[in-house]
Amino acid sequence: MKTALVCGAGGFIGSHLIKRLKTEGFWVRGVDLKFPEYGDTEADDFVIGDLREQGVCHRVIDRCFDEVYQLAADMGGAGYIFTGENDADIMHNSATFNLNIAERCHKRNIKHVFYSSSACMYPEYNQLDPDNPNCAEDSAYPAAPDSEYGWEKLFSERLFLAYNRNHGMLNRVARFHNIFGPQGTWDGGKEKAPAAICRKIAEVNSGDAIEIWGDGTQTRSFLYIDECLEGSTRLLRSSFEGPVNIGSDEMVSINQLVEYVAAIAGKTIEKNHIPGPLGVRGRNSDNRLIEKKLGWRPTESLRTGLEKTYGWIEQQVMANKK
Ligand code: NAD
Repeated sequence: MKTALVCGAGGFIGSHLIKRLKTEGFWVRGVDLKFPEYGDTEADDFVIGDLREQGVCHRVIDRCFDEVYQLAADMGGAGYIFTGENDADIMHNSATFNLNIAERCHKRNIKHVFYSSSACMYPEYNQLDPDNPNCAEDSAYPAAPDSEYGWEKLFSERLFLAYNRNHGMLNRVARFHNIFGPQGTWDGGKEKAPAAICRKIAEVNSGDAIEIWGDGTQTRSFLYIDECLEGSTRLLRSSFEGPVNIGSDEMVSINQLVEYVAAIAGKTIEKNHIPGPLGVRGRNSDNRLIEKKLGWRPTESLRTGLEKTYGWIEQQVMANKK
């Protein structure tokens, strides 16, 4: 039986990934500071532990796993990453466990580690025009991410690829672009734009206004969780090390995103634009490289993913009201 380790197994992507690996017949160990927030884990073994501690890494990386997915990160939405208040934690925590995991996997002779970087590592100067952002993989340098979260991702990408060059590992690096779906954080301040907008719209009546950070003309693309997992497992099992974008190239403005969700909810929604942390003006996944190297690219429409996500968040909002 094939074995997999998922670091960050209590998180959004990690908990979905475990379900997928179980359907593929893997024996799966998960490790995280916490259990998944929504629903039980399907992992065969779930370790509650802090990956900043080397002892925990020794305990969980105790065999030659066929596949390791390093998804743990100290992260959150714009309200956590872009205020500056959490910069030291973000850099220290994530860098510490990336260093621990890379070294421990090497020592255990593990070959295949998947590392989830982020589109936040792309230089801000290429993302100032909301209509024409450049996020081609080779546009990463000269580096100028707009957050310490992005700088740490860039460092750790290089770390995992250095282990390939110097220690014969076959690590794979993906740059995720805004992954969303059911069972993701939807309130509390760490939620991302699609979840926040779904929640705000689920909470109000038709005709009411919701608050939107900025003027809403900033652009993004959003990838549904199932497609993220498809791209990630394909990449880890391919001969291409990356870094490669895993994202959607269906770019929308935040105002358009509100319109989409309002239509799904069947509500008329006014927008109240307020100051808030924004990130770059424009961002979109450039999918030419993944298509060339893997012969695959995400194809599901944003609307389809939003329908599934809105349905789930609406249920959470209703359940919270009771
Ligand atoms: P998430 O926050 O839901 O999951 C990350 C998990 O890491 C959390 O459960 C957290 O408890 C765990 N973690 C943090 N510190 C830890 C520690 N010291 N020891 C053990 N576990 C620890 O995030 P996610 O959305 O599932 O993202 C997974 C990965 O993908 C992250 O590396 C993230 O940076 C990357 N990524 C995600 C997105 C996205 O849109 N979700 C976009 C770009 C990149």
